[in-house]
Amino acid sequence: MRKVVIAGNWKMNKVFEESKQFAEEAAGKLSQSDKVDAVICAPFPYLSALVEQAKGTALKIAAQNMHFEDSGAYTGEVSPVMLKDIGVSHVVIGHSERREYFAETNETVNKKAIAAHQHGLVPIICVGETLEQREANETVAHVKEQVTKGLADLTEEQIAVTIIAYEPIWAIGTGKTASSEEANEVCHAIRQVVKELTNEATAEKVVIQYGGSVKPANIDELLAQSDIDGALVGGASLEADSFLQLVEAGTK
Ligand code: 13P
Repeated sequence: MRKVVIAGNWKMNKVFEESKQFAEEAAGKLSQSDKVDAVICAPFPYLSALVEQAKGTALKIAAQNMHFEDSGAYTGEVSPVMLKDIGVSHVVIGHSERREYFAETNETVNKKAIAAHQHGLVPIICVGETLEQREANETVAHVKEQVTKGLADLTEEQIAVTIIAYEPIWAIGTGKTASSEEANEVCHAIRQVVKELTNEATAEKVVIQYGGSVKPANIDELLAQSDIDGALVGGASLEADSFLQLVEAGTK
């Protein structure tokens, strides 16, 4: 059985005090579980303090991006070495907002995925189509290309522990969710691509999340689908209470 992974992506939200309050509340109420991992993807300035707060608890801390080089003249960037050094466990790679506003490409996503594995960070690779692509019936082809290019040159062992987040762009922050069946169809297609790239056993291990207006009211239905193993959550992860409800859904 694959573990459910609920990851809250705070994006560019919260000030330091708010992040501390959230972690205090959430970490205090979470218990270690074989069924679900709870992850918060926080802005860089808070990562170190959050890792300290989360020590000894079931809460895991992730970055929302990183550079692929270990170090060097890349002003303003943060490296995988730095993230590992402070105890971060996961890193979001290729979120659609980064692809749209910060020129992230399948090639940079791939370089970052390779770098994350080299440093023992779990990459959460984001893929998803625009509304135009969905309406033109290009969803599966587009997502397949993103997955294939994103996972290029990774070993089977690395792919097995990579998380893939399917986030249709039109469902992000809009209140529109793909129906559970629509979401599952694409997540299933993603697992098929992984199988073609590796083998069935590896494909069965890969955690595939859905993201896009996930909230306590729709999480049960999404997690009941055959190929949806968790969620990458924006808005509904900003309050500890609703984040905890989402994690709780993963224990059922
Ligand atoms: P919302 O849950 O706010 O739609 O955001 C989804 C997302 O982009 C998570 O990475």
